[in-house]
Amino acid sequence: MPKILTAGEVLVEIMGTRKNQTFRETGEFTGPYPSGAPAIFIDQAAKMGGNTGIISVIGNDDFGRINTDRLKKDGVDVSQVHISNEKTTAVAFVVYQESGSRDFIFTIKDSALQELNYGKIDKSCLDGCEYFHIMGCSVFNENMIDLFNNLLPELKGRGIKVTFDPNFRKEFMENPRIKELIVKIMRNADIILPGEQELLDLTGMETEKDAVKKLLEDGTVVVVVKRGDRGATLYTETEEISVDSVKVTEVDPTGAGDCFGGTFVSLVSQGYSYKEALFYANLAGAYSVTKQGPMEGNLTKEEIDNIYKK
Ligand code: ATP
Repeated sequence: MPKILTAGEVLVEIMGTRKNQTFRETGEFTGPYPSGAPAIFIDQAAKMGGNTGIISVIGNDDFGRINTDRLKKDGVDVSQVHISNEKTTAVAFVVYQESGSRDFIFTIKDSALQELNYGKIDKSCLDGCEYFHIMGCSVFNENMIDLFNNLLPELKGRGIKVTFDPNFRKEFMENPRIKELIVKIMRNADIILPGEQELLDLTGMETEKDAVKKLLEDGTVVVVVKRGDRGATLYTETEEISVDSVKVTEVDPTGAGDCFGGTFVSLVSQGYSYKEALFYANLAGAYSVTKQGPMEGNLTKEEIDNIYKK
């Protein structure tokens, strides 16, 4: 039984090949690449040696299979990835702007992911689970609101640690029920991995120090603030540890945060210290942006050791 579980998007990504491309003109695209924030997270957690599994729904098509084949190859248990015979695997189209911003078109609303709901979770897969990772972006419809609202007490009742990457999309937060749930997940999380702005938006605080203080007082054990090309900082009640970023040439920033989180949670689940987990997460996140494709830069611990020894 997996020790680290997650639930949410298993999809493919198809990306524009040139900067400043738009969806309003015909252009070249490359893909499909296996993607979906929870899928990237769990793939990296498996590559780092974690015992992992994912709960999702894909279509009966090759977009689904390219993803589950990759997850399986990297050691993720995909027995809880259901196959819809009605709907197709979700697709994310993305184009990049020179400024670094990204435009997305998602087909989640019309995809097999619409069939993911609380009833799809075989509760026996929670036996032996120690960490359940939730991504804010996975709360994308009423089914997912219901899924996480039901799952949270179940996880708490079983003593399963909740790890949380807010990773929310602004338009989702306009829905008060989603916002309420995201805040509830945050209050129940043992490990939170927000970006700098997400941390302030979610806590309603004006400074990072105040926001972290509030979370730790509310019962969070570890907060790791991700800062893109400026590294990351880890806070516990007794520690504050910052790591500088590694200098890399950024090719594709998508998935860095998921890869960072997968590395961190995986190593913590294997008994590494928070400091060691942060060190490797920072290296893994940096390397991931050097490869085109959200999961293409995922690495094993041995690979990280070899690359950064040089
Ligand atoms: P995303 O939502 O795109 O997955 P995120 O905003 O959650 O990303 P980031 O802060 O972009 O997460 O990246 C996570 C971590 O990866 C950073 O804290 C840092 O350790 C590393 N990282 C990301 N981008 C770079 C970069 N350009 N150079 C070096 N390290 C990076």
